[in-house]
Amino acid sequence: MTELNDQYNRSMRDLRISVTDRCNFRCTYCMPKQVFNSKHQFLVRNDLLSFEEVTRLAQLFVNNGVRKLRLTGGEPMLRKNLDVLIAELSKISGVEDIALTTNASLLTLAKACELKRAGLHRITVSLDAINQDTFMRMNDMKVSVQKVLDGIDNARSAGFESIKVNMVVQKGVNEDDILPMAEYFKGTGNILRFIEFMDVGNTNGWNMQQVVSGQEIVDCIQQKFPMQPTDPDYTGEVAKRWRYKDGGGEIGLITSVTQAFCGDCNRLRLSAEGSIYTCLFASQGVDLRRLLRQGASDEFINEVITNTWKDRSDRYSEVRGKGNNVVHKVEMSYIGG
Ligand code: SAM
Ligand code: SF4
Ligand code: SF4
Repeated sequence: MTELNDQYNRSMRDLRISVTDRCNFRCTYCMPKQVFNSKHQFLVRNDLLSFEEVTRLAQLFVNNGVRKLRLTGGEPMLRKNLDVLIAELSKISGVEDIALTTNASLLTLAKACELKRAGLHRITVSLDAINQDTFMRMNDMKVSVQKVLDGIDNARSAGFESIKVNMVVQKGVNEDDILPMAEYFKGTGNILRFIEFMDVGNTNGWNMQQVVSGQEIVDCIQQKFPMQPTDPDYTGEVAKRWRYKDGGGEIGLITSVTQAFCGDCNRLRLSAEGSIYTCLFASQGVDLRRLLRQGASDEFINEVITNTWKDRSDRYSEVRGKGNNVVHKVEMSYIGG
């Protein structure tokens, strides 16, 4: 296997695979109803990569250094037979970690066991508030907090440990839930991670005034629960870790707006229709599906992948607001979070 570096000497390690652009939630910061329930064109079935196509590409990425795969979307659990894909991906030699990011609303115990048996290693669940009204307002589909908590419980019962829980914090929307969420998950073994609201896509009306910084979040939690910073688990870890001094576990902060981490970003994304994006804020991808369906050889597709990575010079978050922002970015639900 080869070591492949981009223009800033970053290697390719982490591939996020979007398996659908559809979702059963309409989170106001991600798929606002006024856009996604009217003029938005979702992909049709034949647009989506088949499991064989995803697996073939994943193998090529692994040959170039990828070690972690994360299935995402849209809501990945809407894709039928996801366990079959996971089972195929887990046969690829060199893959060290297969993870899933989900809103957990469809994570029954039977599904969680199926995913575990297929070879899924880790689950990250998104939950933006523990307050029922706030959460319902944010998912905009009347999904209850309990539904997601049940999903987390089911994942644990199926044998998933240290489940990460992602909370996107938006000023004036759910900042009052920072402390209640910390309190709820403290001591449970689940790791709550606060994500600064980002300017992904073009539909969520982002502006800097809606961002609650990682520092503000830490200050808020520290008022009640003293914490200390702790070292990253590995190079390229996105979250900054803070540990409760009383032994109640840890939290994470994903500070992509106030403290960018492009310097060791080793992630790339494969959209549900088979284009690769070397940055979450990219406006254009490289279409691999066309090559697959035209009968291109592995060698040829591999060359496209390696050239794309070698040319990569993305560092959007580090240059955000400095006059060179991308005009039309792809949506997070399409590219995969
Ligand atoms: N539907 C799944 C879920 O919500 O977990 C997977 C896809 S979702 C796009 C992946 C993650 O991106 C979620 O944790 C979501 O909260 C986060 N996300 C979406 N839009 C965001 C934004 N504008 N800023 C920060 N995080 C965002
Ligand atoms: Fe769906 Fe996830 Fe986006 Fe919410 S954040 S709308 S659950 S894709
Ligand atoms: Fe990686 Fe792009 Fe995010 Fe920077 S802005 S950390 S390059 S995905």
